[in-house]
Amino acid sequence: MSIAKQNLRLEGIYPQRQPEFFMQRVKLPAGIISSQQALQVAEIAERSARGLVHLTTRGSMELHWLRQDDLIPVATQLAAVGLVNRGACGGAVRGVVCGSLAAAGAPALEALARKIHRHFTGNPRFEALPKKFKVGIEADTSSGRHLIQDVGLIPVPAEEGRARFDVWTAGGLGREPTPGFLLAQGVAEERLLPLIETILRLYQPNTPPGKRLKHLVREIGQDEFRRRVLDDPAAHEELPTVASLTASVLPVPASEAHRLEARVFAGELGCAGLAALAEIADRHCGGMLMITGEQNVAMHLADGGDPALALDALGKAGFAGEEPSDRVRFRICPGNHECIAGLAATREVARSVIERLGVQGERLSWAISGCPNCCAQPQLAQAGIVASRLVKEPSGRTPRFDLYRPGAGPFAEPVQQGLTLDALLEACAALA
Ligand code: SF4
Repeated sequence: MSIAKQNLRLEGIYPQRQPEFFMQRVKLPAGIISSQQALQVAEIAERSARGLVHLTTRGSMELHWLRQDDLIPVATQLAAVGLVNRGACGGAVRGVVCGSLAAAGAPALEALARKIHRHFTGNPRFEALPKKFKVGIEADTSSGRHLIQDVGLIPVPAEEGRARFDVWTAGGLGREPTPGFLLAQGVAEERLLPLIETILRLYQPNTPPGKRLKHLVREIGQDEFRRRVLDDPAAHEELPTVASLTASVLPVPASEAHRLEARVFAGELGCAGLAALAEIADRHCGGMLMITGEQNVAMHLADGGDPALALDALGKAGFAGEEPSDRVRFRICPGNHECIAGLAATREVARSVIERLGVQGERLSWAISGCPNCCAQPQLAQAGIVASRLVKEPSGRTPRFDLYRPGAGPFAEPVQQGLTLDALLEACAALA
């Protein structure tokens, strides 16, 4: 197989830290996957990915440990069940996230997420962007996740019978955390795709390669950015809304008890566990599963479903959620276990933190990123950990960690920096 590195990224493939191995990201709209698709992913994982599937904080799945010869067969097997991963990595519009699939009005949010996801996946107009472009939809602003998107959409009350959204833009974490700003209020749903396209058309030719939208806004200022976007007539175009029978496919939970969640430490899900969850989804939850922003798997009971039966099935499948590592809310990126940029063994560090804290750890939400790219969103946790650099020591290069805590701003900030692992554990114990 000979395919350029850039093209591999567009197909959702990154080289892994370990030479000769690759990661295939599976791009899911709003983190939703059918049981049939999940079974296919589980089978591929068993055959080619050391039996593991990684769940990401953006509701994607990742298959690590693929060899070069696996890439085309795996992509073909995923495509056979409708899993198209174009734009899952690289300079493209990434998978659209929605962290509010149990909220009131969730079916409309799900439908919108699918529409945007479908519109930009494989759309050649938007496949040569300077860097990734992230779109997210949230029911409200409480999680702060709308602030970390290139475009974050928040529903506001309908007017004239039309769904409307506040549009936030140019946010992002990484090495230069920047909260998004409110670009436009109460935008009719029919205008959202043209508005996002207008933002992308401004971003693409005016931003150096490797830079996010936040860089452009920093250069020209929010007012000028807003002027250039909203002065473009294309931003005011309205596309017709045509109802679709399959716009939303998730069962609507009758109550909180009708929402099931399988806790998955560090998002590391074994293929047998995924297959078991797919079977539970088939039997109890309308055949649909969701990868959550906390790297777990959620399901909604279908009409008439019995929560006790479904919970029993979840427990028998090994997802009783009784282990300390299941009970502590801890977002964990792959770190140097697999990621080429990783500076620390994130899963091991997280386990050490959990062991050290015991039940006290449950009082806070945690996140650890294996490098300052901050994929685990430590700035949105109550206690965030970032492996910030490596230090040369007689025993080899060892990581140093920064500890983040919420402050006055929208994002948590480092309160202690350059900690050794021992000092980090001490600092975490003092917090909890
Ligand atoms: S935060 Fe760094 S180490 Fe972790 S997944 Fe992202 S790039 Fe890799």
